[in-house]
Amino acid sequence: MSKHHRNRSWAPAPQPLPEDATVIDDHTHVASVVPFAREMNRQAHERGQADVPVFSVDELLNKAKDSGVEGIIDVGCELPHLQTAIEMALQHPDSVHAAVAIHPNEAVLHGHRGVPGPDGLPVKYQPWHDASFEEAFAKVGELAKAYPRQVVAIGETGMDLFRTGEAAIDMQREAFRAHIALAKELNLPMQIHDRDAHQEVVETLLRDGAPERTVFHSYSGDAEMAEIARRHGWYLSFSGTVSYKGNDGIRESLRIVGLDHAMVETDAPYLSPMPFRGRTNAPYMIPYTLGAMADAVDLPVAEVARATRRTTRAVYGI
Ligand SMILES: [Zn+2]
Repeated sequence: MSKHHRNRSWAPAPQPLPEDATVIDDHTHVASVVPFAREMNRQAHERGQADVPVFSVDELLNKAKDSGVEGIIDVGCELPHLQTAIEMALQHPDSVHAAVAIHPNEAVLHGHRGVPGPDGLPVKYQPWHDASFEEAFAKVGELAKAYPRQVVAIGETGMDLFRTGEAAIDMQREAFRAHIALAKELNLPMQIHDRDAHQEVVETLLRDGAPERTVFHSYSGDAEMAEIARRHGWYLSFSGTVSYKGNDGIRESLRIVGLDHAMVETDAPYLSPMPFRGRTNAPYMIPYTLGAMADAVDLPVAEVARATRRTTRAVYGI
């Protein structure tokens, strides 16, 4: 779809989940939805399109509740966002939980000013990247220990060979291993970001020993990968991508691990489910993704919703 024709407005609210089938969005970046919507609104104005409301975090949480999303795990995975996620959890103790980590794409930026990216150009560098990875990662451990009631997971960590290129592979692997060790030390679940790195991620997990509760966030693997996850008792969290036409492998993976190892997430502001792919994502859109999951396993949406809720309780204790 060309930029010109892009629809910047919010997707309509879905049919709410039944009251006895509310769920948790186990991986989202609600703090990032606000500036994202502001940018959508700016673009809409530029094109003479209708206003796009810029909802506050509180409004986004209320919209989520109206859809049957009773809670979220907000993920802070850039150094300045760690505290943001924890603050949100402190302000909304009943509905917001935090996950913290240094994202694999961030891990390679810290203390490495000017390291060329895959295209040979300098990587995107922000002031907070002056801190070394060790310093940034120390903050993750410090906050997870200081806020044990708020921080329910270490994540997202893992490997991303899509943007970073082979040169950064060692740096990412070492960062991933540090997070694995921390999750085990604190006995916390770990959320994995795995983009074009299935083999690397699995090998690293098996070599070091995976945390007892290991979750592949926005799962993107195939049936073969799901068999490996099933064998090791790893969990898969499904985003809007489970609804995309070409992703039969993701839907097959859900059938392979079964509902007791499946969860649902938005990864907002990206990865909106069909038929609203490309729109701004937010936790209120979870029922669309649950609909796609329900189709994949041929069960009612409410049953799938309740199963993911049980799984979030088993994994995160929430
Ligand atoms: Zn994410």
